[in-house]
Amino acid sequence: MSERLEVVTIDGPSGVGKSTVSRKVAAKLGFTYLDTGAMYRAVALKCRLAGIDAGDEPSLLPILASLDMQLLPAVSADDDAEVILDGNNVSDQIRTQEISMLASAVSALKPVRDILTKKQQEMGRQGRVVAEGRDTGTVVFPGAAWKFYLDAAPGERARRRVEQMRKKGQEVDEQQILAQIIQRDRDDSERTIAPLKAAPDAVYIDSTTIGPDEVVALVLEVVRHK
Ligand code: C5P
Repeated sequence: MSERLEVVTIDGPSGVGKSTVSRKVAAKLGFTYLDTGAMYRAVALKCRLAGIDAGDEPSLLPILASLDMQLLPAVSADDDAEVILDGNNVSDQIRTQEISMLASAVSALKPVRDILTKKQQEMGRQGRVVAEGRDTGTVVFPGAAWKFYLDAAPGERARRRVEQMRKKGQEVDEQQILAQIIQRDRDDSERTIAPLKAAPDAVYIDSTTIGPDEVVALVLEVVRHK
């Protein structure tokens, strides 16, 4: 994949607001939103339901071979992408703290990355996609026309995550969320395969002190002029 593909990639660490920004950018451009993290979460949930340890690679292989997963477009720009796993809508089940940590563990394994990267590339082959994740600009769509790396200070990311979870009525401990964010950052950046990092040609945006609408405006300005 070396030609310029009509794809926007938005990578960055956990809790930085990638989903909100990506959904809004996709809605504005009329592109499809591709939440690659939801796919890693679905594999993690499948392991959890099968009682398989996330690091147990041999037991994971049959799970991957029979993976029946579909991503449905988000109902609106404010909703998460819906995920159907083995015929069940698991959109809420994959977005818990436990599955976040498990997803980070399974995402370090090569067979998992190989199969999901291939699926993501198939989904983006026709272009007109906004993909968000950790490696969408570096590994999944190296030929994407517009690449962004979204960053923010860990404390601010934890604060936003807590606010988001409280809005959904979930009980949360901010210190625990911060510790998990720091651990996921470390695991995602230090893994050998497809680590979290900015593509050399990505536009870097620090959103510590700016809100999602300003980030969306910055992204759209680049997309419309490049
Ligand atoms: O983005 P989200 O928090 O939903 O991703 C869950 C986990 O999946 C991340 O912590 C990361 O370990 C993994 N992931 C990944 N590569 C991607 C997207 C997500 O490794 N492109």
